Amino acid sequence: MRCMPSVYIHVPFCVQKCDYCAFYSHSLLHSPKDLIAMYLEGLEIEMEKRKKDAPQGVSSLFIGGGTPTSLKDEDLERLMEMIDRHFRLNPKAENTVEGNPGTITAAKLSCLRRYGINRFSLGVQAFDDKLLKVVGRMHTAHEAREAIRRLRAAGLENINLDLMFGLPAQDMAIWQATIEEALSYSPEHLSLYGLMLEEGTPLYSRYKEGLIDETDETDKMVKTGDKRNSKTDFKSRCGPAKDNQRERLPDDDLQAEMHEWAVERLKRAGYSHYETSNFARPGYECRHNLGYWRGDDYIGLGPGGVTCLNRVRWKNIEEVRTYQSRLQKGQEPVDEAGQEALTLRECMAERVILGLRLEEGVNLTSFRNDFGVDLRDIYGDVLERYKNKNVFVFKGEYLCLNSKYSFVANSVLQEFI
Ligand code: SF4
Repeated sequence: MRCMPSVYIHVPFCVQKCDYCAFYSHSLLHSPKDLIAMYLEGLEIEMEKRKKDAPQGVSSLFIGGGTPTSLKDEDLERLMEMIDRHFRLNPKAENTVEGNPGTITAAKLSCLRRYGINRFSLGVQAFDDKLLKVVGRMHTAHEAREAIRRLRAAGLENINLDLMFGLPAQDMAIWQATIEEALSYSPEHLSLYGLMLEEGTPLYSRYKEGLIDETDETDKMVKTGDKRNSKTDFKSRCGPAKDNQRERLPDDDLQAEMHEWAVERLKRAGYSHYETSNFARPGYECRHNLGYWRGDDYIGLGPGGVTCLNRVRWKNIEEVRTYQSRLQKGQEPVDEAGQEALTLRECMAERVILGLRLEEGVNLTSFRNDFGVDLRDIYGDVLERYKNKNVFVFKGEYLCLNSKYSFVANSVLQEFI
């Protein structure tokens, strides 16, 4: 029997776009005034259509974006009321909202708490104004500190801080100071992401124009995120910006070292490295994301939302007006190109690839129960090929990835497809 689905609500608005961001979101500073009203109208119709898919309630809720806390008080209240009316929020479930410093007020937190929000994910990225500015973040380090204080004052006992490494002009000392400051607030959860240069973003244009220093390695980092793990002297490969116009990107070796240092430091501080980019104090692993990685069903609402139910997956249209007008006409807000019935083989490959991101690995019993076959019978050839290098490890009922291969995992994992 399938368990209750989780629900993700996409809020595609931010105060202003960050320079590195390729996600779908509108800058509120440059959007027509009626766009949020249209979004909420469409979302309400979509919730009405989809509530039948969660008759027993939802296993977890995640309101992400975008920046959900960039909504005005009355819009946020309307959003929460709509979710509660259609999906019966369970205060004992994990209910998360994402937000950014500078947009978090006591009034908004009070509203979220009233509707059962018990986890908050805060986009800190860095505690350094210069770095924040270089990547076009809208907030300051002081606002991040103040946001953390407000979250705790509002009674939130489960907080995630998002931090980024590999930023222009960031060196190891700055990164270490960021981690130490984050630890001083005792967050229950930390997510660490390496910067990716995505085509079409202002940061990518600056890189192409030569305003960001090119190193031999940077080209490999663009779009691929491919990282290696060799040891070289990082001090020679990164330094502060030479002037206001020109910045230097840490190369992929330094990024790997930053990640490696943080893994060790956070382990010493009592956090488990339970997923490639995620760390948690015991019992605070993000249940919503664990559901994705373990292959549970999910409903994604709002423009760009992705749903996967009973092995059928679809993606909503991203553009707010088209999304809303389709729903108003009684049509599905679905992007036809993003609709797929997954074959059994695709589902199995996805389960293995996502599961291997987790420290716990892929649960062999669940695999057998869900697919009616043993993972070793299906992927015996891949496991055999990497046997000598110990890339895969069996631990009881789990198949895991040897942690020393986590930075080269992508190429290996492709073999399961
Ligand atoms: S706040 Fe997040 S979603 Fe919004 S522009 Fe910045 S990175 Fe993108």
